[in-house]
Amino acid sequence: MTSLETIVNLSRRRGFAFPSSEIYGGLRSAYDYGPLGVELLRNVKNEWWRSMVSARRDVVGIDSAVIQSRRVWQASGHEAVFTDPLVECRGCHQRFRQDRLPKPDQCPGCGRSGTFTEPRHFNLMLRTHMGPVETDDNLVYLRPETAQGIFINFANVLRVSRQKLPFGVAQVGKSFRNEITPGQFVFRTREFEQMEMEWFCLPSEASEWFEYWVDARRRWYLDLGMHPDNLRIRPHGADELSHYSVETVDVEYRFSWGWDELEGIANRTDFDLRQHAEHSGEDLSYFDPATGTRVVPYVIEPAAGATRTTFAFLIDAYRTEQVRGSERVVLGLDPRLAPYKAAVLPLSRKPELVEPASRIADDLSRRLTVEFDVTQSIGRRYRRQDEIGTPLCVTYDFDSLDDQSVTVRHRDTMHQDRVAADRLYPYLVEHLGL
Ligand code: ATP
Repeated sequence: MTSLETIVNLSRRRGFAFPSSEIYGGLRSAYDYGPLGVELLRNVKNEWWRSMVSARRDVVGIDSAVIQSRRVWQASGHEAVFTDPLVECRGCHQRFRQDRLPKPDQCPGCGRSGTFTEPRHFNLMLRTHMGPVETDDNLVYLRPETAQGIFINFANVLRVSRQKLPFGVAQVGKSFRNEITPGQFVFRTREFEQMEMEWFCLPSEASEWFEYWVDARRRWYLDLGMHPDNLRIRPHGADELSHYSVETVDVEYRFSWGWDELEGIANRTDFDLRQHAEHSGEDLSYFDPATGTRVVPYVIEPAAGATRTTFAFLIDAYRTEQVRGSERVVLGLDPRLAPYKAAVLPLSRKPELVEPASRIADDLSRRLTVEFDVTQSIGRRYRRQDEIGTPLCVTYDFDSLDDQSVTVRHRDTMHQDRVAADRLYPYLVEHLGL
């Protein structure tokens, strides 16, 4: 199983993610995505958007503000109950989330037992103030989930999109939680990205839709190449359910530290729409033309973490192999997720090869994300591309000058094909499966 350390090292070495504010010692709360990480993260979000929004006529997207009225979070219940149990060790004064302690009574900081304070409810919302004066009246929160931005726009979206029940509203964006103990690289950070969809349906159909979305979301991970043995669906026990949910499952990944959550899928009932209707005075019901009555829809919510899921795809794709006595590191990412779809590599730095190869790269990069690399030996360049997950390498050699063809090397099999330069783009598209 791939260790956390291996992935953290790869990420720093190759440029997937760096600790935020690193030159000032790092914040331990957030990460900055490097040239490869930003592509991978964007591809994960695009694949989610494609499957959840673009490929469906019954889901539309929105992009709501990070800063919303405080009343949103009072109505949703977050101000009162979005808390984690916090304990402090009386010995070393470090603070921990009680429900995540490896041993219930032992401090993971100093190893002492029986030193914890009574747990207190610690609210996870990050606060700030709007405007120049800091008073209670202008206190606002950075959103801890994207979902509420959808609920408060329910009536707007219904009016403009002409959707009929059942339908969904999706959003991808930043969320913020003042986690007591961030950690495990980008798994738990205080600033992160979520991909959430609220599926509005008739209350009588909610259980059926819940099953539908659990299955659809499970298949999304598998379709993008996640290993089935590393993925499971775990129903929540009654004591675990959030304040708004009657049924929840977690989609979990087998990390090196054990099974942990990638996504929660919840039946939120009509809780949120009713709360907002009551607190705002707006009518957030739906007129059902079939029965001629008004109904407050139930909501099924698949809520995934974009940054956390990207991390899981990275771990899942990592493998090492022995090739002719030396170790090869391969990131076997699905081509849809791979940061670069192809790398164009002139065999030598001689201008007679670099110039035509560069023209090929320019031409391809109008339609595909490609890298152009002239440094080091060709063998080393192949290994570098294997390690960052590039599915295909295009080599321009001295024969290319005569036969107008290039060699295409496949990451997974290391198989090589000779391909006419003017057939290169269709060849790549076919073999990438795009
Ligand atoms: P956890 O139990 O891990 O704290 P949660 O159950 O509170 O998470 P949800 O509120 O269901 O999480 O949020 C949906 C998804 O958002 C999670 O499955 C996860 O992928 C992502 N997420 C939540 N908190 C964080 C975080 N601090 N850092 C990164 N991703 C997060």
